[in-house]
Amino acid sequence: MSTEPASGVAAATKVGRILADAQVGALLWGALPISLIADKYESDFPEISFVVLNHQIKVAETVLKACGYHLCRNPQCTMLEERAPGPVPTAHFHEQSFWISLLSKSDTLWWLPDWHHGPPAAQDPHLILTNDPRLPPAYNNGNVVGPTGPWLGFPGCLTLNPSAFTESILYLRVRDMLPPNRGSHPLEKVWRAMQYAMSDYGTPGQRPNTGPYRRTLRPEFQLAWDYLNGRRPDGHNISHGLCRLRGHLIDTGGLPSDSPNWNPRRYTKWEDIEVDYRRRGITDSPSVCIGPLR
Ligand SMILES: [Zn+2]
Repeated sequence: MSTEPASGVAAATKVGRILADAQVGALLWGALPISLIADKYESDFPEISFVVLNHQIKVAETVLKACGYHLCRNPQCTMLEERAPGPVPTAHFHEQSFWISLLSKSDTLWWLPDWHHGPPAAQDPHLILTNDPRLPPAYNNGNVVGPTGPWLGFPGCLTLNPSAFTESILYLRVRDMLPPNRGSHPLEKVWRAMQYAMSDYGTPGQRPNTGPYRRTLRPEFQLAWDYLNGRRPDGHNISHGLCRLRGHLIDTGGLPSDSPNWNPRRYTKWEDIEVDYRRRGITDSPSVCIGPLR
């Protein structure tokens, strides 16, 4: 057995293989695959997360139980309290040094077309295997430890490609964000931590933000990502891109159409935002955008 490129890789790819062999399309997600697309990421809590199509969750439970994994049905399980706040898994299993959580597609990746358990097509816009040589190569430059590189020597496990993975975090950030100036939803903090872990770099000595390390997002996602990564006009609030992305998704079916919409594009001048906020009962001073609208 070769050394693991990141803690949990052997266990995760083994589970992925067991489920794929049972024709369950389990998609590795959460903290662990961040090591494939950004910097090597070791979470404090050894959780291995898979997203599974809702109608296959029961099958996945049965298959893993039959293979000796320890299914926990305790709704007051202490593991749920010990770990940092995070999405409540539909099912979870306790193993000696980690736990496996099964997240439902509808809770996590609702926007993604349903997938199959086998290897994705070469041109699949979202999916890739964890041992695919097209993943960013390993990067290690002194104190900077970039991605691990593809997990060669381990079973290939379905996951999101770097661009789709980045977009998946932005979907969740805008789904769970509260109105500007209203603090943070507990889950938003989880997504923000993952987003920080995937941040772009490009300054000398850091992981490059070029070539195979650079991700290509759809325009509305790219705008939000640029704002979060410091590429925004002077005077613009960091949340501007997220609010605009949220508005775009509400308008185009990516989020429920009746979700509150704080898209700064709806306003032509600053005063309009304040009027609209008052109409919606939001009394705090708005901070969505304090510069010229783009
Ligand atoms: Zn438990």
